[in-house]
Amino acid sequence: MISISRTRAWRLERCTTFKIRLGTTQVRRQSSQIILQLDGRTRLSSFWTYRSAPDITGEGTNDDGQSLLLKGGFIAQEASGYFHFLPFGLRVQDKLSAIIDVHMRSIGASKLALSSLTSQSLWLQSGRLTQPLEAGNHELLAVRDRKDSSMLLAPTHEEVITNFLKPHITSHRDLPVRLYQTTRKYRDELRPRQGLLRTKEFLMKDLYTFDADVESAMETYGAVLGAYHALFKQLGLSYLTAVADSGSIGGTHNHEFHYASLLGEDIVWSCNSCGSAYNEEVLPAVTETSASPSCLKCENKLISNSTIEVAHTFFLSTRYSVPLGLTYQTATPGQAPVPVQMGCYGIGVSRIIAAIASKMAAPTGRRKPRVGLRWPVCVAPFEVLVIPKEEGSAETVYDTIAQSGADVVMDDGPEEFMRKLQHADLIGYPVVVICGKEKAEIRARGIETPVVYVEESVVAETVQRVLEELRAVKHDELSN
Ligand SMILES: [Zn+2]
Repeated sequence: MISISRTRAWRLERCTTFKIRLGTTQVRRQSSQIILQLDGRTRLSSFWTYRSAPDITGEGTNDDGQSLLLKGGFIAQEASGYFHFLPFGLRVQDKLSAIIDVHMRSIGASKLALSSLTSQSLWLQSGRLTQPLEAGNHELLAVRDRKDSSMLLAPTHEEVITNFLKPHITSHRDLPVRLYQTTRKYRDELRPRQGLLRTKEFLMKDLYTFDADVESAMETYGAVLGAYHALFKQLGLSYLTAVADSGSIGGTHNHEFHYASLLGEDIVWSCNSCGSAYNEEVLPAVTETSASPSCLKCENKLISNSTIEVAHTFFLSTRYSVPLGLTYQTATPGQAPVPVQMGCYGIGVSRIIAAIASKMAAPTGRRKPRVGLRWPVCVAPFEVLVIPKEEGSAETVYDTIAQSGADVVMDDGPEEFMRKLQHADLIGYPVVVICGKEKAEIRARGIETPVVYVEESVVAETVQRVLEELRAVKHDELSN
């Protein structure tokens, strides 16, 4: 009932405040005089975002990444532990998700989307649950439907995918299989905190791999590790790869990827000498009074880092295939069916966004210093912002930049020029082009020449060169 009346109210509002001019491409909202120009150009005037920064109270009211994501209209908090992704934020999320797709395709993984609702019976079968759960004192979000079936809003999908694949993996010819999804996951956090870092609902990429034997599972493990390194190198922020558990099957097969951050709630010990890093649990017990532990590889003293865990790789062996009965017939005639060797590999998509926002937020503005967001080019909501300064050729400049292949938006709103610059600083576009009467001013933070003035005829090629330069930047080395 509530949703119906809300829809009606919304429609009523639309009817009274919007007037659509048939036969033209303009939609006018009379109460506020916004003109939606639908001419194929991406314009901030027709891209929904806040027209003035919202009041942010409570946790994170400073210029930290989380507050900037809220102020800039990337995300909005619905309630403790869950957030909406608004148009700016969704563009970042979609771009990151698309980059992950490229790296998953590079190892032959296919994308699917499993149902978020999961039967508890599979979890009882795998042994992760020992009895049916009611909503209550645990981290799983348990739900019951009208037929009294016990279900979960899934935090991970090992059981579901193992069970699903049973009829499809019966012979050695059906292997290997690599399947992944990027979907919303659920966990009933006791104390949601730090914005997108500890939430009840989060976006995660989870890859599940299925191999015939340990040897091929280890090859898969190495391939995924390689794809993860390529992804994190592309994002351009330095990261730590920590050994989380040394296995019984020769070599390690449990790694975590971390961003060093003062916001982090994890501890990773790193070695300055050989570059190794370790999760606390693989080191001899560390107490506050004891000396730093030594590197397991080179015996150098280790340094402790507070970190945000953003990804993990984990060899599961037959942890799920045995209890759920995922077996296959080998090439040897007469041999009994053998359980499949599995791996699971996660990437915290919304966590990476939060980590980038907090690590890259930096002072900006000349006359009155403020703190604004910054984004690596590959995940920025838009790569280039064009701001018209005087009556002139902003549309031509926009068109040439768009034709050169850059992801560009034009701030053609009614706000004053200085207000637009402030907004640009908050959002963190990698490149800002200000179109004056004579020349265009191209601004980019974090490169050798942050401001250049060029003729209109070479704006597009200069922007491309600046974007190239920005893509090569190691973001952690920047101060501004
Ligand atoms: Zn070392």
